[in-house]
Amino acid sequence: MGYVMLPKNQNKHCTKCGVLKDKSQFSPHKGTKDRLASWCKGCHNQCVKNYYKKFPWLGTLIKIKSRCNNPKSGNYASYGAKGIQCLITKDELKYLWFRDKAFNLKNPSIDRIKAEENYTIENCKYIELIDNIHKAGRESRQGKLLQQFNLAGKLIATWKSCHAVERKLKIKYGGVSACCTGRLKKYKGFIWRYYLTK
Ligand SMILES: [Zn+2]
Repeated sequence: MGYVMLPKNQNKHCTKCGVLKDKSQFSPHKGTKDRLASWCKGCHNQCVKNYYKKFPWLGTLIKIKSRCNNPKSGNYASYGAKGIQCLITKDELKYLWFRDKAFNLKNPSIDRIKAEENYTIENCKYIELIDNIHKAGRESRQGKLLQQFNLAGKLIATWKSCHAVERKLKIKYGGVSACCTGRLKKYKGFIWRYYLTK
C-alpha cells in the first residue's frame, strides 16, 4: 500500500512525462475534453526551451517584434516609440545567424549597424551581447540622437546628431553640443538635449 488515492477530478496524467499531476500544473487549452493541455507546464516549458535552442534566430525575431510592436514591452520606448520597425524575416535572421557564426558567441545578440535605422537584413548583424551594450552606451554618450525644445519645453524636433543640426539650421555644432552636455542653458533660442535610450 502506501499509495494515496488522489481525488480523480483534481489530477491528470501528463502524456509527455507520464506523471500524475494536479490540474493546476496544466495550462488551459481549447479543444480538449477537460479544456486543459495534455502536457504539463513543466514539459511544455522544456519543449519551448528546446525549440528556441534549436532555432535561436526565432527567439531573436520574437524579441525584435516585441521591442518594435508591443507598447507594453519594457524596451518599446527605445524602439517602436522611436519609429524603429521590424523589417527582417525569420529566414533572413537564420542567414545572419550562420553568416556571423552566432553559434560561436557566448551571448549572441542582434545589433543594428546604424542605430537610427530599422531592423533589416542589411542593417543587422549578430554580435556579442556585451559588445552590443557597450556600443549602445557609446552612441548615447555621443548623443547620436538629440531633441530640440522651445523655451517652454515643447518638443520641436528630434535630430540624428549635432552635425545634422549644424548642416540643416546653419548654427554651430559646438553650441548645440554644449547645450546638450549642460554647459549652456540654451542655444539659438532653443534647448537641446541628448535623447538617451535608457
Ligand atoms: Zn509532464
